[in-house]
Amino acid sequence: MNLHEYQSKRIFSQYGIPTPQGELAQSPDEAYAAAKQLGGRVVVKAQVLTGGRGKAGGVKVAKTPEEAQAYATQILGMSIKGFKVEQVLIDPAANIKQEIYLGVVLDRAIERLVMISSAAGGMDIEEVARTAPDKIVRIPLDPSLGLADFQAKQIAFGIGLDPALVKEFAVIAKGLSNAVMSSDATLAEINPLAVLGDGHLMALDGKIVIDDNALPRHPDLAALRDVGAEDVAEMEARRHDLSYVKLDGTIGCMVNGAGLAMATMDVIKYFGGAPANFLDIGGGAQADKVAAALRIILSDASVNAVLFNIFGGITRCDEVARGIVQALGQINTKVPMVVRLVGTNEAEGRAILASANMETATTLSEAAQKAIAASKRV
Ligand code: GDP
Ligand code: MN
Repeated sequence: MNLHEYQSKRIFSQYGIPTPQGELAQSPDEAYAAAKQLGGRVVVKAQVLTGGRGKAGGVKVAKTPEEAQAYATQILGMSIKGFKVEQVLIDPAANIKQEIYLGVVLDRAIERLVMISSAAGGMDIEEVARTAPDKIVRIPLDPSLGLADFQAKQIAFGIGLDPALVKEFAVIAKGLSNAVMSSDATLAEINPLAVLGDGHLMALDGKIVIDDNALPRHPDLAALRDVGAEDVAEMEARRHDLSYVKLDGTIGCMVNGAGLAMATMDVIKYFGGAPANFLDIGGGAQADKVAAALRIILSDASVNAVLFNIFGGITRCDEVARGIVQALGQINTKVPMVVRLVGTNEAEGRAILASANMETATTLSEAAQKAIAASKRV
């Protein structure tokens, strides 16, 4: 679950990280009132569950309440990467001398949370990571102790921080590490952590991603979910208990089992295609779940072929086939589909699909190549 910037900064603040004391506004009038109350310059910030708001024009510094109102009019209702802006955060504007990146992310390869920092933070951090990886310091955290004092100092010196700021930085880094560990976050990021004109540090932006599987033990965090602001396809997937992750390719994938789904994506890539999504319908998927999954896959406009890779174990092939036929009865689509069904009740499954006029395949290689060919015909 992604938290909004304002929610993330409130959590940071509870862990001793200095943040601007701003206010949320849902209309230009509310933005005016908030700016007036804060006095002086403010920054008007789109609250959407995606990054890159600055580059999209969703972050503006206003000198007067009137200007804040005008920017709010501009930003509210704007769409950023497909997310509509319903509210803006009005923060007192900061006088920024330097933008530092400070984050904690779960590194699944080493099975540790890793703290990452760079003196070259701000809106181009992805570019820095790609072109100058040596400017980025990475320190793995101990799973029970979190960030140790000496590690906080290691990071501060590693990014060449002014020695006068090291103590303050260490408090923030430890606060971030504690926030992540106590809230079962898989990511928390401050970008920028700004060095201000007055020489102090402040977290001007915040992002937290909570592990969905941990939400039952954090009812307070679960309550922060802003359903209306989430990605529609991912929301639908969660409602039907499907694991769905949108990707950049053109071949929609529906697979039962996470490992098989990964293998399917690999094989598509091996044959020169690109998967449009990861989707695991899970074991024992019933027809209506399959139908929901197909609707979600087809809601992505870049999908121009769909590959079903079903290994019937607990999930019965005839049940999945019935789901596909049911879904196709509800959805009007011309997207070509290739189905590979093997395992429990595969003969029954194939017989059901024969009536649905779909391409079938016996091996995964064959299925992937057929799907790629079909996607190129479109
Ligand atoms: P993002 O683009 O979604 O990461 O949004 P940010 O909150 O990081 O804002 C983007 C950029 O706006 C930052 O990198 C800063 O350069 C600038 N910015 C954000 N807040 C302030 C502020 O209070 N004062 C000033 N002058 N610039 C700000
Ligand atoms: Mn940012």
